Amino acid sequence: MQLQTTIGQPPLRPLGLLAELTHRCPLGCPYCSNPIALESRGDEIDTATWARVFAEAADLGVLQVHLSGGEPAARRDIVEITAAAHRANLYTNLITSAVGLTEKTLAALAEAGLDHVQISIQDSDAASADRIAGYEGAYTRKKALAGEVVRLGILLTVNAVIHRANIDRVAAMVDQAVALGARRVEIAHVQYYGWAVVNRAKLMPTREQVERAAGCVEALRKRYHGSIVIDVALPDYFARYPKPCMGGWGRRSLNVSPSGKVLPCHAAETIPGLEFWSVRKHSLADIWQSSPAFSAFRGTDWMKEPCASCPRRFEDFGGCRCQALALTGDPRAADPVCHLSSHHALMAELADQRDGEPYIYQRQRADRTAAAENALVER
Ligand code: SF4
Ligand code: SF4
Repeated sequence: MQLQTTIGQPPLRPLGLLAELTHRCPLGCPYCSNPIALESRGDEIDTATWARVFAEAADLGVLQVHLSGGEPAARRDIVEITAAAHRANLYTNLITSAVGLTEKTLAALAEAGLDHVQISIQDSDAASADRIAGYEGAYTRKKALAGEVVRLGILLTVNAVIHRANIDRVAAMVDQAVALGARRVEIAHVQYYGWAVVNRAKLMPTREQVERAAGCVEALRKRYHGSIVIDVALPDYFARYPKPCMGGWGRRSLNVSPSGKVLPCHAAETIPGLEFWSVRKHSLADIWQSSPAFSAFRGTDWMKEPCASCPRRFEDFGGCRCQALALTGDPRAADPVCHLSSHHALMAELADQRDGEPYIYQRQRADRTAAAENALVER
């Protein structure tokens, strides 16, 4: 069976696979995109299953695997998993908090064929960065590991997650990425899924801050032209049109959860009634082509007005289904980020709600004992 969006167009093939190796993480970022109900260590799929998934992904057309989490280095078999992805001829990108990943393991990962590392930074100010991460010493650890990544000749991207507490230091965060030797920096405004919804009023910047940061990034692009690529993920709540979430539902990528469930996007489980198939029981090709969750919002047939007749529907695919559900109660509605949505005014209302209460941190409570964290860091 070949999937086609429109007659005459080539079949849909995924290009990227997000491998969520574990939900365990020593950090507790208040904007973490992990689900509120985290999957436990005992439910995680094993090394051999990941190796099979990577081989099947390559057969399906996937070019790039993002080894992510939680903190992927919390898996004791992270080197074997990376080697399996490399053997499958996938470009391997490790998305790490840098906490829990030792220099020794990093060297072994380089040996196993790791192509690229992405390290998130919370702020250019050490005390603020550690407070946001909910982990003392995280800032120092990230700087040290970034240096080691560059020393080993692995390409480095810095992911600077932006919100009210650090948005006024965007320039300093980009300067920091340059100083760390990154080739690319992502200015990633918080997207309000998972834990970020819980902390929305604590994280939301003001419109003035967002506009100031946008001007600042333009100036930084000129200053650093040719030395670092600066990408920006804009904040939804201040936009007029939605983003094509995941490049369109079931069009370009797959997420495999720690327990082996395959999702069209990491928040898809928030939509009730969707049936997710697992790599424990199905091949990846079977899931991509036939699983109910991937078919649910693929293409444009599921749309209702105003999307169904909108000329932009092949560009943004109606935006994010999870956000449509969360804010309108209907996963088939237009993403309320769109100014044509009858719910658009709600975005402005929510963007105006702010409180200064302490963050509610993402926690993998089952594993977050001092002993477990020490084991993570010392391995
Ligand atoms: S807590 Fe932070 S570092 Fe850990 S997975 Fe979530 S966002 Fe990433
Ligand atoms: S109406 Fe729907 S398809 Fe048109 S721009 Fe808005 S979200 Fe996109």
